Amino acid sequence: MIEFLNLRDITASFGGEIEQAVERVVKSGWYLLGEESQAFEQEFARYIGAGYCIGTGNGLDALTLIFRAYIELGKLHAGDEVIVPANTFIASILAVTECGLTPVLVEPDPDTLEIDPSKIEQAVGPRTRAAMMVHLYGRCAHTGSIAELCRRYGLLLIEDNAQAHGCRFGERRTGNLGDAAGHSFYPGKNLGALGDAGAVTTSDGELARMVRTLANYGSERKYEFGRRGINSRLDELQAAVLRVKLQRLDADNARRAEIASLYRSGINNPLVRIPTEAAPGANVYHIFPVLCSRRDELQKHLSDHGIQTLIHYPVPPHAQECYRGRGLLKMPDLLPITERIHREELSLPMSPTLTDEETAQVISAVNAFG
Ligand SMILES: *Cc1c(COP(=O)(O)O)cnc(C)c1O
Repeated sequence: MIEFLNLRDITASFGGEIEQAVERVVKSGWYLLGEESQAFEQEFARYIGAGYCIGTGNGLDALTLIFRAYIELGKLHAGDEVIVPANTFIASILAVTECGLTPVLVEPDPDTLEIDPSKIEQAVGPRTRAAMMVHLYGRCAHTGSIAELCRRYGLLLIEDNAQAHGCRFGERRTGNLGDAAGHSFYPGKNLGALGDAGAVTTSDGELARMVRTLANYGSERKYEFGRRGINSRLDELQAAVLRVKLQRLDADNARRAEIASLYRSGINNPLVRIPTEAAPGANVYHIFPVLCSRRDELQKHLSDHGIQTLIHYPVPPHAQECYRGRGLLKMPDLLPITERIHREELSLPMSPTLTDEETAQVISAVNAFG
C-alpha cells in the first residue's frame, strides 16, 4: 500500500536525531518559554528572512493573533473587510471571522488553483483594509500585481503560509512577502512537529510585540495584564523537533519537487488535469493536486491499486454549516470555480520519503484509469 503521507517513515528518516532532541528537552526539566523555542524562533526568522518570529500553539492561533494584534494596535476595526481566497482550508477564514472581521471571498484561477489576482480589485470596497494570501498546496499565490494593488489601496498583506514553508517568490521566501504571516507546523505540513505548533513571522516590531503579548495572556510583564490575551505557546519539545527538521526542509522540498516533476512528465491520462507549473522554487508541493471530473471513481480506482489519496477539500468554506446563510462572509452569488475544484480535486501521494518506484506505480495507475 502506498500511503498518502507516512509520518512514521519521515520521523525515522532522521535517524534518531528527533529522539535525541526530545530526550534533551525531557532531561532539561524546562518545558515552556525556554532556550529551544527561543532558538527556533531565531532560526526560523532567519530562514524566512523576517525580523521576528513568535512561536504559537498552532497555525490557526498564529493567523488569529495577527488580526487580533492589528485590532489592538488600531490598524483594523471590527467590521473591516479582509480579502481571502474562496478555496482554502477553513482555518484561513476562521481567523478572520473570529476577530469580528468580514472575509470577502475571491475566486481562484482554475489553472493555478490560487487566488485570481485579476479578480481581487473588484472585491475591494470602502471597508477593505487587508488581503490574505494563502499559498495553497505549497504554491506561491503572491504576484507583483497583488503587491502593487495592496500598496495602491493601502491594504495590509497577510500570508497564510501553513502549506508553503520554504517556498520562494523570486529571491524572497513566502512568509516574508507581506506585513505578517501565519505558519502551521501541524505534523503533516512540510515542516511538521510531533503535535500542534505554529508561528507568526513579521518584520514589524510593534506587531511582533503585540502578538507576543496577546499569545501570553496579554501580559508583557509577569502578573501584569494590559490586554485580554490567550495562551498559545510553542512548547520546548516541539521547538526542539522543529529545529532538527528545519535543517532538512530545503532538501525535503527538493525531493518533493523531483516527485512532482515525475508526476508531471509521467501522467498523460486525458481525464486528469494537472495545474500549470509554477516558476522554479515557487512551489514546495505540500500537496500534488490533480483535477478529474470523475474524481470519486479515480480515487476508488487508485485505492483498488493500493494507492491512498486524499481530497483537499471536499466542501469549500462558504458551503460549510458554520458559515452557510449566516451573513458572516461577503461573496459573489456564485463561486463556480471554487465549487468545481472541490468537486474535482484529488491529492496524490506526496512525501519526501516517497521512492521513484512508488511514484512510477502511482503514475501507471493514474494512466490506467479510464
Ligand atoms: C493547516 C492549515 C492551517 C491551520 O493550521 P493548524 O496548525 O492546524 O491550526 C491554516 N491554514 C491552512 C491553509 C492550513 O493548511
